[in-house]
Amino acid sequence: MTQQNNPDVRFLMGNEAIGRGIVEAGCTVAAAYPGTPSSEVLESLVRWKKELNHPIYVEWSVNEKVAFEVAYGASLGGVRAAAAMKMVGLNVASDPFLSAAYLGIRGGLVVVVADDPGPHSSQTEQDSRFFAWFAKVPVLDPGTPAEALEMTLRAFELSEKYQVPVLLRPCLRVCHARQNVSLNTPRPAAYVGPFKKDWTRWAAIPKYRLKLHGELNEKLARIEREEPAASPVLLNEGAGNSIALVTSGSVSSHVRDIVASDERLQGIDVYKVDLPFPANRDALQKIVDEHERTLVVEETYPVLELQIKDRRKVTGRLSGDVPSQGELLPELVEEIVLRVCGKEPVLREAPVVKPRRPSLCPGCPHRPAFYTMRQVFDQAVYTGDIGCYTLGINMGAVDTCLCMGASIGMAGGMSRAPFTEGQTRVVATIGDSTFYHAGVPALVNAVHTRARFVLVIMDNNITAMTGGQPTPAQDFLADGSPGVAVDMERLVRGCGVDFLEIADPYDAEGMKQILEKARSYAFDDDKGVAVVITRRPCVRAPKVELPSDRFEIGEACDLCMSCLRDLECPAFHYVKSEKRMEIDADLCAGCGFCVQVCPSQAIKAKGA
Ligand code: SF4
Ligand code: SF4
Repeated sequence: MTQQNNPDVRFLMGNEAIGRGIVEAGCTVAAAYPGTPSSEVLESLVRWKKELNHPIYVEWSVNEKVAFEVAYGASLGGVRAAAAMKMVGLNVASDPFLSAAYLGIRGGLVVVVADDPGPHSSQTEQDSRFFAWFAKVPVLDPGTPAEALEMTLRAFELSEKYQVPVLLRPCLRVCHARQNVSLNTPRPAAYVGPFKKDWTRWAAIPKYRLKLHGELNEKLARIEREEPAASPVLLNEGAGNSIALVTSGSVSSHVRDIVASDERLQGIDVYKVDLPFPANRDALQKIVDEHERTLVVEETYPVLELQIKDRRKVTGRLSGDVPSQGELLPELVEEIVLRVCGKEPVLREAPVVKPRRPSLCPGCPHRPAFYTMRQVFDQAVYTGDIGCYTLGINMGAVDTCLCMGASIGMAGGMSRAPFTEGQTRVVATIGDSTFYHAGVPALVNAVHTRARFVLVIMDNNITAMTGGQPTPAQDFLADGSPGVAVDMERLVRGCGVDFLEIADPYDAEGMKQILEKARSYAFDDDKGVAVVITRRPCVRAPKVELPSDRFEIGEACDLCMSCLRDLECPAFHYVKSEKRMEIDADLCAGCGFCVQVCPSQAIKAKGA
């Protein structure tokens, strides 16, 4: 229920608006795992909690599956609960997510899943609306930050009304866009009463699951029939019967603006569906029947399009008129709409953007770690993982990247492949947060099965890539309240690992010796998995003090280019006109690793 007794307007990012909506809905438990573009939802919840003194418990969970389970448990306990993640996180949470749809909920349960069409910072461009369909869970698709807040409130109400989890699916352009958003007074903490034992519902065996599946189907049929959000709403004056545009979510704003701003498109009807699954199929069909042609423009899969029964007059992804991959940016949507409407496209000169290769930060501890790995394992296959350190590809130290935690499982399989050279080693790399997230079961498996590889856990004491969220190694929670630190060494040893050493990646010689010992243990002595933890904080982490030393390149430099090619430090530049190397003092982080590895010992501390 949206309350209007405390009008207040703020300029909010979409994710902040969702966080506000969670608080306004009286939700008291929220759990998330960070991932672009969803991370700010929980971060904003911490701020709203403090600003409004709202009694909500927030946590960064160890992974998305656990985040969903924490929220689900709270819902069964009777309170409103939310889980937040990016779309590939829903893959991790899919097992409990699908099962929860059958079992149902008690306190309203909203799962915020942020999609990344493009993809800008993800492994896939999957459409979570499709996942919701697969799981038989209703999904709301906001098009703006203001809608994101309003739909968050609606999602809780829908969830409690039909006793199902509800998915809220903002796309990146909603998550990170900013808009003036009207705020309301949070409703008091919602509580539907204590958990009542009923194993036929909450611990249902397959026989009861069949019954629950039937009940879920009935709920979806009711939602499709009864909920206004499931039906298309006309966004403009329209009144034509030639062409209808049907859309949802972030792309609906583009479509509406394009039609409103081009005189040639006047009279075209623009419809928007807030709840794309389960959409009201009869209402969609009616639009199709009443128009000569219907164009469906939606991000990223043909979810609405597939729910139209008779598609003979429908144009969209299935007809090939809308590309099947890539983000629907405004200029592309405009081109599609004009083409389908038989109008000449507007010619615009595309800005020339010089692409810049992403690179690890200057001073990043992963750089020297990768460099030393490459020195010790010249023939290795490197199974990599998800994080800043995926950029080890620039240094030839990441050969594969599948999904969170896969580096270890894949190393187990890869180490059993018959390498032709007979000498090739497998080296897996994983960050600390990713190790806690999904690496532990894979390491247990590798130890148990006597897999042969070296695992380097790159511990920078933070979840760096998503903005610096804490890991379970910290003794505080998302809002700063006390937590219990989970010690990584004890965890690794608990997985059954015998070889475990800690290395400082800034110390070239020390790390080299440790990696050589690990190599002997795993490969020469055939003793199984050897684990090396490289430990140095992320240079971007709060309170990390960088060394004040700065360096310069002396005359001994013979332009071997190793610092550019092998070390790949962004602080190094080749000054072509003067045929010399230079270190940019503004970029240099003072780590001093280059001094240790320059073959000509040409790099010295300034003033030395
Ligand atoms: S943010 Fe931290 S971990 Fe990521 S590249 Fe920069 S220094 Fe390395
Ligand atoms: S590694 Fe040393 S010798 Fe080689 S280009 Fe860089 S500064 Fe010069």
